[in-house]
Amino acid sequence: LPQEVVSSLMNGEMALPHTDKFLLPSPLSCPGGCQEALYCSESCAEADWESSHSLLCTGEKSESVSRDALGEFIKHANETNEIFLLAAKVIAFTILRYRKLKAEHVNKQAKQSVSKQSLLLAAWKPVSIGYKRRWWDCIALPENVDPSDEEAFRMQLKNLACTSLELLKTAIFDKECEALFSLDIYGNIIGMFELNNLDLVVASPVEDYFLYIDDLPDAEKEAAEEITRPFLDALGDEYSDCCQGTAFFPLQSCINHSCCPNAKAFKREEDRDGQTVIIASRRISKNEEVTISYIDEELPYKERQALLADYGFICKCPKCLQDF
Ligand SMILES: [Zn+2]
Ligand SMILES: [Zn+2]
Ligand SMILES: [Zn+2]
Repeated sequence: LPQEVVSSLMNGEMALPHTDKFLLPSPLSCPGGCQEALYCSESCAEADWESSHSLLCTGEKSESVSRDALGEFIKHANETNEIFLLAAKVIAFTILRYRKLKAEHVNKQAKQSVSKQSLLLAAWKPVSIGYKRRWWDCIALPENVDPSDEEAFRMQLKNLACTSLELLKTAIFDKECEALFSLDIYGNIIGMFELNNLDLVVASPVEDYFLYIDDLPDAEKEAAEEITRPFLDALGDEYSDCCQGTAFFPLQSCINHSCCPNAKAFKREEDRDGQTVIIASRRISKNEEVTISYIDEELPYKERQALLADYGFICKCPKCLQDF
């Protein structure tokens, strides 16, 4: 496709036929003034601001201690491990929740004074659900690292986390929440994401659009396709690429693995919000544990076990016991 066609499509000068039936929310940039966060609506932007972004925004309304340090922290994470960004979100979330709980407590003029530590623990509660191990201890040794270098490899990861935490500390440190800034906690938060993240797939509106065109009555379809065909050709197989993401759900992420699972994590066509659903794939009897598969369960035994090593366990599900 010629570049000018692509740009006029992107800036809205040109619209493809029937795209009015596929209205997408226009992205809203962060009200804090950073150029990094984009939202689908004002309410989403507000919710994120309240829950963590006010501390992590690099814009002029940022409530961080140092916007420069924050910029450096983000740059370091983007260059090394993006999960550091999620870990920062957890810390910012907990600090903001702590401040809110503390304010509520003061407002209630509570007779019994509650210790700062128990308020901090209460703020941390939603995060406490996730299974945690230190990141540098729990991740499997990559194939290209010689087993004799294992100690050095794990040390390298620990140092990386240490550098990242120091940058974050300069950016958003809060004395009352000092406990959150220990390397041990930071390592456990990162480990939690590595161990519990669900890969999520979200349907693509681009695919829906081309399927819609394909289903039009003949005359209309012919007229539309005359315009859309070059775009479809240019996209090739990519026209049906779905949007991919990774997510942490306190409940769904904690479901145990089995190579013969009785349920699956889904982001169905109709689930267009941030939710995911667990659907039973066969009858589940009373008291039977609900399981999902973290990997492609059709792989041979050895490959399955190698992939599961990343999660820190050896699978002993009925299928593995049989294949062993
Ligand atoms: Zn949204
Ligand atoms: Zn922002
Ligand atoms: Zn298994």
